[in-house]
Amino acid sequence: MNSKQTIITIKILLIITIFFFSGCGTDSKNELVIYSARNEHLIKPVFDVYTKETGIKIKFVTDKEGPLLQRLKAEGSNTPADILITVDAGNLWHAANENLLFPVESEILNKNIPVHLRDPENMWFGFSLRVRTIVYNTDKIDPTELSTYEDLADNKWFKRLGLRTSKKVYNQSLVAMMISEYGIQQTEKIVEGWVRNLAADVYMDDTRLLEAMAAGQCDVGIVNTYYFGRLLREKPELPLAIFWANQATGGVHVNVSGAGLTRYSKNKDEATKFLEWLSGQTAQKIFAEVNLEYSANPSVEIDSFVKSWGGFEQSKINLSRAGEFQQQAVKLMDRAGYK
Ligand code: FE
Repeated sequence: MNSKQTIITIKILLIITIFFFSGCGTDSKNELVIYSARNEHLIKPVFDVYTKETGIKIKFVTDKEGPLLQRLKAEGSNTPADILITVDAGNLWHAANENLLFPVESEILNKNIPVHLRDPENMWFGFSLRVRTIVYNTDKIDPTELSTYEDLADNKWFKRLGLRTSKKVYNQSLVAMMISEYGIQQTEKIVEGWVRNLAADVYMDDTRLLEAMAAGQCDVGIVNTYYFGRLLREKPELPLAIFWANQATGGVHVNVSGAGLTRYSKNKDEATKFLEWLSGQTAQKIFAEVNLEYSANPSVEIDSFVKSWGGFEQSKINLSRAGEFQQQAVKLMDRAGYK
């Protein structure tokens, strides 16, 4: 699509949106409008419970984060959206940086959501925890050989490592968080080591990487645990296991799917109440369990299958760093030859 076509497409979407949601403002107290980059099957169960509990209807649009942010920008103060939900702190940081979100001062959110999982300026809050850690083939590796992400750059893993593409924001956030912890130079050495150790070309998604690992194409890799959970629930016989990375050195890398109040919401009080509800017991349980993630609120009991993978120490570095260092991470991975 050329830029002219893109502008026309955005204008058409804008007209459709305004048409679709016209009238929302007239009954604002009983309705919320949510733009979500988290898939419908993962969020609708949460919305349905909220409507049942409060009588407040939720209209929602799901799309990829890029088009949703474009849409919010194009709509400006005319947007019908009250809340933006998206995955990855890098994307939430971008939304805040593009001035699309509005700060929420809430004692409930501050109490329920740990400080490293929310924006220091309260522009967004993480509502589920996604853990990106080491998974290995149990026929090929003894877990005592494993330790950290950095160690996967060591020569002992030559032609044994599998990675998902660096184009995926999950890896950009992982490397961005490493930059914030170790600095550019040391992180670049680690990523160069990973590239040297690759057993095969990078994989397009975590599931393909896990399947390649189970098939013996690589021995060890880095994935989000919910992909491991989905695959192992279907095929429990696969020779794969989770290893919690960096337990003695700062904790495993975590990310979130999260949400923020839109800058131009006409319904900020109701929207804030919804965000507060999202951080509580009922919503946290559904929000995490539908995708085998962890709840962001640490007081919420987790799914028994997920629990069976064991406990872990998580990195407590604030996730806003994933956004701050994302551009540098992308450039670093490019220089290191990480495709
Ligand atoms: Fe994912």
